[in-house]
Amino acid sequence: MDLSLSPADFAFRDMIRGEVAALVPADIKARVNNLQHLRKDDYLRWQAILNERGWAAPAWPVEYGGPGWSPLQRVHFEEACFLAGAPRQIPHINMIGPVLHAFGTDEQKRRFLPGIPTLRDWWCQGYSEPSSGSDLASLRTRAVRKGDRYIVNGQKIWTSWAHWSDYIFCLVRTSDAGRPQEGITFLLMDMKSPGVTVRPIHSLDGAHDLNEVFFEDVEAPCENVVLGENQGWTVAKYLLNAERTEIAGLGQAKRLLQFAQEAADGLARAGASPERRQEFRARLARIKIDLKAHEWTLMRVIAAKPDDPRAPSASILKLCGTDLLERLSSLLMEMSGPAGLAYDPSARAGRSAEVPPYGHMLNGATATYLEFRKSGLIGGTTEIQKNLIYRATVDYWGAL
Ligand SMILES: Cc1cc2nc3c(=O)[nH]c(=O)nc-3n(C[C@H](O)[C@H](O)[C@H](O)COP(=O)(O)OP(=O)(O)OC[C@H]3O[C@@H](n4cnc5c(N)ncnc54)[C@H](O)[C@@H]3O)c2cc1C
Repeated sequence: MDLSLSPADFAFRDMIRGEVAALVPADIKARVNNLQHLRKDDYLRWQAILNERGWAAPAWPVEYGGPGWSPLQRVHFEEACFLAGAPRQIPHINMIGPVLHAFGTDEQKRRFLPGIPTLRDWWCQGYSEPSSGSDLASLRTRAVRKGDRYIVNGQKIWTSWAHWSDYIFCLVRTSDAGRPQEGITFLLMDMKSPGVTVRPIHSLDGAHDLNEVFFEDVEAPCENVVLGENQGWTVAKYLLNAERTEIAGLGQAKRLLQFAQEAADGLARAGASPERRQEFRARLARIKIDLKAHEWTLMRVIAAKPDDPRAPSASILKLCGTDLLERLSSLLMEMSGPAGLAYDPSARAGRSAEVPPYGHMLNGATATYLEFRKSGLIGGTTEIQKNLIYRATVDYWGAL
């Protein structure tokens, strides 16, 4: 397997880094680099800029208006965005988009696809419920068919950006027959429908990204079912596995590494003892090595064509990426010293004028540390990924 970059790969990487760096508006870049919360308008502005270039939906093929990039080019694009201080990519674009490409009817594609990359329609993901997270198949939000509509009742939780969303793609129970997975349907719903209530959940870092979503006799037309009634588990699994490069968190880890490197350079200035500096540098070096290994693992997954469906690649990438993000955010907080002890949520909202001696980016170091505790939960917990890797390994060796 040849993992080295070709001259064309280097040319693309350099081109995209230069272009993206020149495109990010200064005020958005400042908020990103100061680890502050972004507003919806920041995402909309950035997305409009990308859309002008045809880069708003990096994982989409050309026939649906995407750039038609290879997985490696998408990695370089994602990295360029993180390193340039751009907002993160909106995850739903690479979730609901590929699902509609693969399973949507012509009418669903015509109606929904155009609004996704432009963010004319903001989507959220309605999978998790209060007692159905890891055990997703036990979900109880029920959709009962009445003529040409479904009547939906139930509750979703941890729904990221539901308060900004126009639509939700939802897993709903349409049957109790057979295994729990066999009675689930993938349904597209309008968040403005009567009977939808969104309640905020404020997370440890002071952010409001998460929500509870309640459905009370909400109507959804039958033509909004993707793939077919009781076929939702197939769609759900496709979606969870679709975007491996993003789940690896490589760009995000590289940006945190950049911050940590800058903070380490400022330690002597900030009066840290030689022993503390040595300890931080050793930890930073270890993380750098592991990040390189993670990058090569991602390259190997990308280069393996076709990907072995038995290989638990997505779980391995998620696990390693999560580990790096957690270690980097811990290191950043510890390096911020006394400045990191005073947890000031207002720093992340952009209201704090105080700049710690280690640099601007550590203003929100504690909040960032708290924020990244989420990475072991989001998209399937660390323990669940370990279970999946174990099972895949046993199956694989058992089959040999
Ligand atoms: C920041 C954030 C954003 C999110 N955004 C969304 C979203 O937009 N849409 C959405 O639908 N969901 C979203 N989620 C929910 C996420 O998918 C769930 O949190 C995740 O699937 C875990 O489910 P749970 O929280 O119910 O925990 P549980 O499943 O209750 O797990 C609790 C603990 O038990 C462990 N555990 C559970 N089962 C096992 C097992 N079989 N073996 C070993 N250990 C086990 C878990 O690892 C965990 O440590 C988000 C979560 C977070 C943190």
